[in-house]
Amino acid sequence: MYKYSPLFSRSISSIYFFIILFTLSACQQTNTTNSSNTSSVSKINNYPITLIIHGGAGAIKRGYLTLEQEIKYETKMKEALEAGYKVLIDGGKSIDAVIKAINVMEDSPFFNAGKGSVLTHKGNVSMDASIMQGHDLNAGAVAGVQHIKNPILAARLVMDSSIHVMLSGTGADEYAAMNGLQMEENSYFIIPKRLKSLKRALGKDSVKPESADKSHLIDDNKYGTVGCVALDKYGNISAGTSTGGMTNKKYGRIGDSPIIGAGTFADNATCGVSCTGHGEYFIRLGIARNLADLMAYKGLSLGEAADEVIQNQLTDLGGTGGLIALDKEGNYIWEFNTPGMFRGVISEEKEAIVEFYEKK
Ligand code: ASP
Repeated sequence: MYKYSPLFSRSISSIYFFIILFTLSACQQTNTTNSSNTSSVSKINNYPITLIIHGGAGAIKRGYLTLEQEIKYETKMKEALEAGYKVLIDGGKSIDAVIKAINVMEDSPFFNAGKGSVLTHKGNVSMDASIMQGHDLNAGAVAGVQHIKNPILAARLVMDSSIHVMLSGTGADEYAAMNGLQMEENSYFIIPKRLKSLKRALGKDSVKPESADKSHLIDDNKYGTVGCVALDKYGNISAGTSTGGMTNKKYGRIGDSPIIGAGTFADNATCGVSCTGHGEYFIRLGIARNLADLMAYKGLSLGEAADEVIQNQLTDLGGTGGLIALDKEGNYIWEFNTPGMFRGVISEEKEAIVEFYEKK
């Protein structure tokens, strides 16, 4: 039978003492390992945060925009850049930065996304959006939605909360409403200048091409989709694209913007991409993924790969448009085969800059 022995109890206490000592020293060791990790983590945490946006490419020539219009677009694009950048500088994730920047442009009537989207043949608005994050290749998209105030939020909802990558039409609208996203009547998205563009596309508008008033040229000659690619301090790249598609589209036409690999792509190993242009060509060439693959499999630099897909492949096929792309080192590129593209960038080294016309 077990008997209490003070000697035994003393030896137990010393065992405990040694266990505690050992644990403490092990903890200290772990801490040292952690602290050396911390320095590598903090290195990892120090990627050069960068955010790049576009507001569409097209036959945007100098003179299509009045000085006043230029200032308005520039101000709005800088607002989008700064909204996204604030997330990054505060230590936030690239996916949240992309959402913030795109929301600003979706809420503005200046762009073909959210409010101000172009009109379908039937005269209503039907929007597409997609988003992708480069660390786990997770992605979400919506196509042909008519009531979601910010379609990019719905793309993210699909990515985060559903087992799917893409939802479309009334089902996507329903899913967004069910999950509490802000919904609007279709009339909320429609603005007068888009009605005029549709009329012109249908040949029902009296504005002559040689008219002195050139204010319509910007709306008729620019694709106007919005996109954003961001790199956060953790080295994660995210990309998103949001659009109303193309004026006078029919039969539920969907372009490249909600298609992962065509209009949007992100992979930390290569880059993040958002496209704008004549979607049918971007789909056929799988432009966004194609660019990343040229880096991965052919070892091209970001710039070489962007040049190849836009200036060679897209141009040879007869397509028009452009893209923005960003890699993990904070290298960014905008490439287009149209006379102009609305674009901007912000980073630790660069204050927000916005450009419209041909590259200098
Ligand atoms: N790529 C879009 C589409 O084809 C249009 C755009 O870029 O404005 O739907």
